Amino acid sequence: MIQLTEEQKMIRDMVRKIAKEKIAPRAAEIDETDEFPMDYVEVYKENNLFKMVLPEKHGGIDANTTTLCVIVEELAKAYASAPQMLITTGAALHILLKAATEAQQMRFFKRLEQGTQACSFALTEPNHGSDAGSLQTKAVLNGDHYIINGSKAFITTGEIAEMHLVFVRTGGEKTKGISVIMVDKNTPGFRVGKKEHKMGFAGTGTVELIFEDAKVPKDSIVGKVNEGWSLLLNIANMMRVWGAGCTALGNAQGALDYVVEYAKQRFQFGKPIASFQAIQFMLADMAILIESARSLIYRTAYVMDTDGGSFKNIETLVCMSKCYAADVGMKVTTDAVQIMGGYGYTKEYPVERRMRDAKSVQIYDGSNQIQRVVISRNLLG
Ligand SMILES: Cc1cc2nc3c(=O)[nH]c(=O)nc-3n(C[C@H](O)[C@H](O)[C@H](O)COP(=O)(O)OP(=O)(O)OC[C@H]3O[C@@H](n4cnc5c(N)ncnc54)[C@H](O)[C@@H]3O)c2cc1C
Repeated sequence: MIQLTEEQKMIRDMVRKIAKEKIAPRAAEIDETDEFPMDYVEVYKENNLFKMVLPEKHGGIDANTTTLCVIVEELAKAYASAPQMLITTGAALHILLKAATEAQQMRFFKRLEQGTQACSFALTEPNHGSDAGSLQTKAVLNGDHYIINGSKAFITTGEIAEMHLVFVRTGGEKTKGISVIMVDKNTPGFRVGKKEHKMGFAGTGTVELIFEDAKVPKDSIVGKVNEGWSLLLNIANMMRVWGAGCTALGNAQGALDYVVEYAKQRFQFGKPIASFQAIQFMLADMAILIESARSLIYRTAYVMDTDGGSFKNIETLVCMSKCYAADVGMKVTTDAVQIMGGYGYTKEYPVERRMRDAKSVQIYDGSNQIQRVVISRNLLG
């Protein structure tokens, strides 16, 4: 792993403490009830974590990609669901920093302060997932307002977000007709729809967003009209590394840490199961996979932080990081269940939850198949 700065180490230690004291103790209960953890919201607000990507002049900590990786990894080590509201908010704020005018930034940041501070990042639609470039939620200019009609699906943090960063169709052709628009949760004609009843990732407020003649002020469009797709490509690169990648990584590390202790304490045939070579080698392989994923992720983050994040150079590395970490997460958590035998399969212990949570990372933020499509396309030219 690359050397962290003194400041990054301080942030890591602060987040590690929060994760141990405030996040981990609530994980099993949130997994059971699927209630959005408003206590986590308060902890993140107190520690300025919603604003982690913002510069100091906007009250943030100006975190670069490496710092974001450290924060998400530490939180996911405690509970994979925990960093998700920070990831959607960070992604939305990144786009605002990149493309919103100074006046828009002041307006939106002020508005977020008045509530949870959380933002959703709304791209997917019921009929457009991997093929998001064909999205159909339409925004039509009418005087001083855009009128939005359509719906979004699987929107993380959507349940409690103060504002939603929404990708809408404002023009004709596929990716050339997409814009980004900020929608306040109190917008007339907008509502939160059904909540997804998911296998894992409980408490992340995954909902449908419904737009029925939703009336949004014209100056809520972020960046140029019909140029939203390029904003998406830029932010997708970042999110895949510090969002999905580090969620998978932290979750896998949490599973390994747990089963290492379990293997030392569980006795069969008069010995701890940790004394059996079959178990030792599984643990060794899990550690190798996790460390390889960590190296790939932090190397990608380093490249992003040092070459200005120029899109073409890093796309392949980004897709490798997301895809590999998600696959490692699935393999490690499945093996963690195996090492614990029957107890691993019960809800009394946390590893089956980690296995269910790991699965989602292979699907969202561009499925692992889509990552492989991009990697092979870049390889083949
Ligand atoms: C827990 C969770 C949280 C999410 N949060 C958000 C969010 O906050 N915001 C948001 O906008 N979206 C979110 N999503 C949606 C997520 O990004 C989509 O589920 C994902 O992009 C896949 O789309 P889909 O589910 O429609 O699957 P489909 O696109 O229907 O794909 C189905 C299968 O076909 C494969 N496939 C599709 N096209 C190809 C191809 N060209 N080549 C090879 N295989 C292909 C896919 O890999 C997949 O295995 C979330 C999803 C989940 C599960």
